[in-house]
Amino acid sequence: MTPPNIEVEEFRRAAADWLDANRQHAPRDYGAICPPELVDAGVAWQGRLHEAGYAGIHWPEEHGGRGLTPEHNSVWQLECAKAGVPAVLNMVGLVLAGGAILMYGTTRQQTQHLRPTVTGERVWCQLFSEPGAGSDLGSLATRAEADGDHYVVNGQKVWCSGGRVSQWGILMARTDPSTSTQGAAKHAGISFFLCPMDLPGIEVRPLKQMTGESEFDEVFFTDVQLPAEHLLGPLHGGWQVGMSVLTNERGHIGTSVIGLERRLAQMSAMAEGRELGVVERQELAALMSHGTALKSMARRQGPIASTAASLLKLGITEMMFEMSMLRGDLAGADAMLEGPDSLGMLAAPGGRIAGGTSQVQRNIIGERLLGLPREPKPTR
Ligand SMILES: Cc1cc2nc3c(=O)[nH]c(=O)nc-3n(C[C@H](O)[C@H](O)[C@H](O)COP(=O)(O)OP(=O)(O)OC[C@H]3O[C@@H](n4cnc5c(N)ncnc54)[C@H](O)[C@@H]3O)c2cc1C
Repeated sequence: MTPPNIEVEEFRRAAADWLDANRQHAPRDYGAICPPELVDAGVAWQGRLHEAGYAGIHWPEEHGGRGLTPEHNSVWQLECAKAGVPAVLNMVGLVLAGGAILMYGTTRQQTQHLRPTVTGERVWCQLFSEPGAGSDLGSLATRAEADGDHYVVNGQKVWCSGGRVSQWGILMARTDPSTSTQGAAKHAGISFFLCPMDLPGIEVRPLKQMTGESEFDEVFFTDVQLPAEHLLGPLHGGWQVGMSVLTNERGHIGTSVIGLERRLAQMSAMAEGRELGVVERQELAALMSHGTALKSMARRQGPIASTAASLLKLGITEMMFEMSMLRGDLAGADAMLEGPDSLGMLAAPGGRIAGGTSQVQRNIIGERLLGLPREPKPTR
């Protein structure tokens, strides 16, 4: 393991060397969330990262981290992107749950959860979205009613990535029965919980996607008795907890540049060995120019993802969608058969939805970057 207080540049070199020697043990680079079928490999990878000192890089040492800075962590993400390996087992555990517990957890909660999370022994899922609450998460209707030393939880969550392979979930539920799912005060009645997934009354049902895979689950809560000690942060103050964890961890923008370089290389490979028609050539050239412009924009932003994150999220996911469609066009009738071309087309819409839909990103860009008037809200 590299020494404590190591300079960022020295850390970068050590991380790159370590990745060079160990990348063969990594599962494929699946992005932010480990798919259920790779969880065993992801857990083993996280354990290896922890042993070598590359897990919880900016977490306190007493909780299994390295006690270094967010800059060191950001460099780690960049080196993993270059090596084409996942930087963590699962963003929900290592970034969202871990970040929330570090920021809001009691000493007991921190001792209970942080170490097993950073070693990969505890896998987490995110229980936020509901059938009637996605982009507008403040409308969530799952209730957690206080009853002595526990809360009684009833409701339904959906799109829970890897729910069935997780031992714990971060759960947002309505604790103040006087607040409704509509109206200006709807955010005020929500609390944030750490929820064991094996409590009686929790039922996890896989959702089959149009790709044929089942990455997500629906999660039903029926009279679940959730111990009150699992409330994280202030009662009815869960909105603030949820929003701060979603924005507290800023990635390295260089990872977007590397991802874009790979995608541009894939795009130019699409033309190899093919006679492209005029329209297809135009479409490919437009996509390549778009990708190159995004890459230049990401390079201009400096190392830490900030307000440009929405622009890049929108630009990259829209470009990926168009690229998958063009790939399908180029494959012709073959794209109707099972295989990577059809799978790419069927999986492409998900990227435009996860982590805030394209329309929601456009609202953010309009209101926060361009200073346009706020979207009218009927409830305001
Ligand atoms: C790959 C993937 C992984 C996910 N993992 C998880 C997870 O682990 N846990 C979890 O809780 N959730 C997860 N989600 C759910 C995700 O957070 C929601 O799908 C997302 O927030 C959108 O919500 P929705 O599906 O309810 O769509 P809605 O919010 O109902 O949106 C429907 C349509 O209306 C548009 N729209 C909504 N509001 C506005 C507005 N104000 N202005 C303009 N247009 C608008 C949207 O852009 C969209 O086109 C995941 C989703 C995906 C695709």
